[in-house]
Amino acid sequence: MKTSRRKFILSSTLLASLGSMQKLFAQEKKTTVPIVISTWNFGVGANAEAWKVLAGKGRALDAVENGVQVPEGDPKETSVGLGGLPDRDGRVTLDACIMDEHANIGAVACIEHIVHPISVARKVMEKTPHVLLVGDGALQFALANGFKKENLLTKESEQAWKEWLKKGVYKPIANIENHDTIGMIALDTHQNLSGACTTSGMAYKMHGRVGDSPIIGAGLFVDNEVGAATSTGVGEEVIRICGSHLVVELMRQGNTPQQACELAVKRIVKNQPQKSKEIQVGFLALNKNGELGAYALQKGFTYAVYSNEVPNKIFESKSYY
Ligand code: ASP
Repeated sequence: MKTSRRKFILSSTLLASLGSMQKLFAQEKKTTVPIVISTWNFGVGANAEAWKVLAGKGRALDAVENGVQVPEGDPKETSVGLGGLPDRDGRVTLDACIMDEHANIGAVACIEHIVHPISVARKVMEKTPHVLLVGDGALQFALANGFKKENLLTKESEQAWKEWLKKGVYKPIANIENHDTIGMIALDTHQNLSGACTTSGMAYKMHGRVGDSPIIGAGLFVDNEVGAATSTGVGEEVIRICGSHLVVELMRQGNTPQQACELAVKRIVKNQPQKSKEIQVGFLALNKNGELGAYALQKGFTYAVYSNEVPNKIFESKSYY
């Protein structure tokens, strides 16, 4: 009786010290929460808005929605929302998607006249049995849910389109202007991930063209066990490799976010060795520990980071070429 009691005491002491060792190991791998990251320089304004939610211990989902609304509503940003450059017929058509920690998803594609497609995407996620609405159907749904119909084509964007019409050549080039789609990922204090992605797509595209940005798995993917990724650049090439899903799955296999982004970009190079020299694609990823990665085909892909350690700064990603 005595011996077994002693054994019990011994083994519980052993268990207790094992427990504290485990805690020690867990502490060694420091987790950065909250954190928000987003594509391009305009990510700074978007991150600042997202941070308000995250700093108040709010949900990553609310943070990313509020965050990307900033460039969507800015008429000076010609690649997102209001003021976005039109398609070749002069129509501003927008794409957006959103994904939360429970793998809930919502998206709209080729929607016109609505300043905040990201919020329509969230409504699709929360109010319908569907995940993607397009074109007139998406507009109809938005209007029925209280969104206002507006003219998104600013004088400046109209002028740029008329200038383009003189030659009318559609050739997606590597980024010369330093702005594009906004993809945003946040990890909140509850250690939950969410992401949002919104864009006016490639300027002067064919009417009806949809890129990677509203396609879950291409322009955005979130897996709350592993991490999340988003993309920017020529959407056709991102769709071809299911880019953001690929990055997340590569992280699941043990790659760091940086390695995962690099492997995805290399996949594009392998598929399209010639074309990849002339176009831009960039990936941004975050894992559950708040570690991030970024990589692009060409130089010039920037992203913004906001955490307690990094108070909203812009970084330039490494690139393949
Ligand atoms: N990825 C977007 C698209 O293909 C555009 C971009 O990020 O430049 O529509």
